[in-house]
Amino acid sequence: MSRPVLATLDLSALRQNLLIVRRAAPDARIWSVVKANAYGHGLDRVWNALGATDGFALLNLEEAILLRERGWKGPILMLEGFFHADELELFDKYRLTTSIHSNWQIKVIQNARLHAPLDVYLKINSGMNRLGFMPDRVHTVWQQLRGLRNVGGLTLMAHFADAEKPDGITHAMQRIEQGAEGIDAPRSLSNSAATLWHPEAHFDWVRPGIVLYGASPSGQWQDIADSGLKPVMTLRSEIIGVQNLKAGDTVGYGSRYRAGGEQRIGIVACGYADGYPRHAPDGTPVLVDGVRTRLIGAVSMDMLAVDLTPCPQAGIGTSVELWGQEIKIDEVAAAAGTIGYELMCALAARVPVVTV
Ligand SMILES: *Cc1c(COP(=O)(O)O)cnc(C)c1O
Repeated sequence: MSRPVLATLDLSALRQNLLIVRRAAPDARIWSVVKANAYGHGLDRVWNALGATDGFALLNLEEAILLRERGWKGPILMLEGFFHADELELFDKYRLTTSIHSNWQIKVIQNARLHAPLDVYLKINSGMNRLGFMPDRVHTVWQQLRGLRNVGGLTLMAHFADAEKPDGITHAMQRIEQGAEGIDAPRSLSNSAATLWHPEAHFDWVRPGIVLYGASPSGQWQDIADSGLKPVMTLRSEIIGVQNLKAGDTVGYGSRYRAGGEQRIGIVACGYADGYPRHAPDGTPVLVDGVRTRLIGAVSMDMLAVDLTPCPQAGIGTSVELWGQEIKIDEVAAAAGTIGYELMCALAARVPVVTV
């Protein structure tokens, strides 16, 4: 590792966050959502720290197989089900729970040759209008699936579009109730936001993702500041250059930042090719030598610039936290007009990762 950029994963934070989820939903079982390579953290690095979970939920067959090959024997939920009929053979071999959200999937599972029935999550379209059956179709589909020898346990599943808002699940819950009327089956409805903020939606299995990694489902760190949740990923680098600006001097591509007077700035070895958002504006918080300062100038591919005015002791080799324990990923994301989810998922492959 020569270039100083480095992501550190705090696995004890991951374990702790899972415990906090358990306390938030004490009567539900937990699908730990590890899609997108565990939200950019690396499934292979982190799954074991989540070993106290009841199941893993993801949507990529390769990732499901990896979990089985590493020895995970518990349930695995494929959130989007199978994409093509020929995948059923692997769902059978690796004993994967599948969601079913479209009619064609019913035919496929009906006609498949399986060694044993597969557990199925029947997906209700709760109003988000991505995947799932309309409420008035649910009863028919449920009857159909219940009659198939290839279908084992049946669970009703839905997903919320607005669970981070205080009254954000009312409409969706009405639709779910309408679809589920008269059906005696377990339910799995809650993402992180509903797990934290809508206990009435917990039911049998919750499906938290982002909170396990210690960021906020609302995009606002303050919303989880008192929860005990701790960021898992810290992205650090070092100052590799220092410049002393005079009034009118500019910084970086497009000369977006212009110094108002004499100013000392640091150049940090981290850019958008590492996953730092190029859209981050002047003023985005950065921690230099433990002191909060701000990004200045456009983020380039491999570097970014920071104001050293509040930390005159900093120089070449000084440690910089881009996000992590002190600078929350939600703060950086909000400044750049996105959410922590996107930043953690976009951590670039060239960034070395260590676990502690
Ligand atoms: C991603 C996802 C989740 C987890 O969402 P978070 O907001 O990260 O908690 C839960 N359920 C489904 C269907 C998902 O796609």
